[in-house]
Amino acid sequence: MKIAQLVRPNILSLKPYSSARDEFPGTEGVFLDANENPYGVLNRYPDPHQAILKQTIANEKNLSVNQIMIGNGSDEIIDLAFRIFCEPGKDKVLVCSPTYGMYRITADINNVEVVDIPLNEDFQLNTQLLLEVAERESVKIVFLCSPNNPTGNLLKDIDIVLRQFEGIVFVDEAYIDFCSQKSLVEKLDEFPNLIVSQTFSKARGLANARVGMAFGAPEIIEFFNRVKPPYNVSGINQKAAVDALKDREGFKRNLYSILSEREKVIEALKKLRVIKKIFPTEANFVLVQCMHAGDVYQRLIEKKVIVRNRSTQIPDTLRISIGTPEENRLLIKSLKEL
Ligand code: PMP
Repeated sequence: MKIAQLVRPNILSLKPYSSARDEFPGTEGVFLDANENPYGVLNRYPDPHQAILKQTIANEKNLSVNQIMIGNGSDEIIDLAFRIFCEPGKDKVLVCSPTYGMYRITADINNVEVVDIPLNEDFQLNTQLLLEVAERESVKIVFLCSPNNPTGNLLKDIDIVLRQFEGIVFVDEAYIDFCSQKSLVEKLDEFPNLIVSQTFSKARGLANARVGMAFGAPEIIEFFNRVKPPYNVSGINQKAAVDALKDREGFKRNLYSILSEREKVIEALKKLRVIKKIFPTEANFVLVQCMHAGDVYQRLIEKKVIVRNRSTQIPDTLRISIGTPEENRLLIKSLKEL
């Protein structure tokens, strides 16, 4: 597979910005080259290549640094994928609704047409149809989210899509740490067309820091690095991500709490008459179908419990994030009172 054939011609020939730190990467000296303010503690630009963070991730995931790109959240990575591969007004991407809304919004921003091949009633891929349409419409990127947001389930046939589709397969693994399946990162060497995105926003607890990761073949990652703004992730946030990776105990403790709370919340929801259906979840949230979801949503707000109304995507559904034990107790108590 020739990745370069999928890349927009203007990106293929793009000469990336050369920052002051690219031109002089040393650390010793009087730095008068970046128009920084000489005073203060946050006065210097951060490392544009995020070397320490990438090396820490590479060690953690058994990858090479050149297979890793760091984004300002995975939302930036989604946007960069459009800007690298999709010619505005010409190229198409494929999504499988119901799924994460930013694929479509980012397509709209970039003036890229979206082909939707909805998931089936078990929220699984219509694989054959997807492949047929992707080929017929010369789709550039197929976006797959596993575990999927807002449904919570894993997608089964990603391997088939990776084998048979000749464009880019962008697998969004924002919720991978909460699930029973291994990341596709392990298959990067097998599939040159695979991009896996992950984030520090969920299981690592750093949503405020805006740190996302893209993993792919070095050839793909090189294009991401070419297109990203030079200082896209602040030094404070790079450090926060490194610290989060080093805190293995804290990570395990929080993950264990969220996963055991998820089971408790599901058991409690099963006993409530207002809840009609609980969809299986492998993420840190649970999607439920209930009677009069819009009313339930409003009445929960009155009780100061805020969930996400997903009824425009799937009729009468609410998506509930798993909180602390105390927060979850308040949720269940409030639902009981309705
Ligand atoms: N992908 C999915 C599936 C998500 O649900 C989210 C956030 N809700 C994102 C990506 C964006 O994550 P980030 O905070 O890394 O931009």
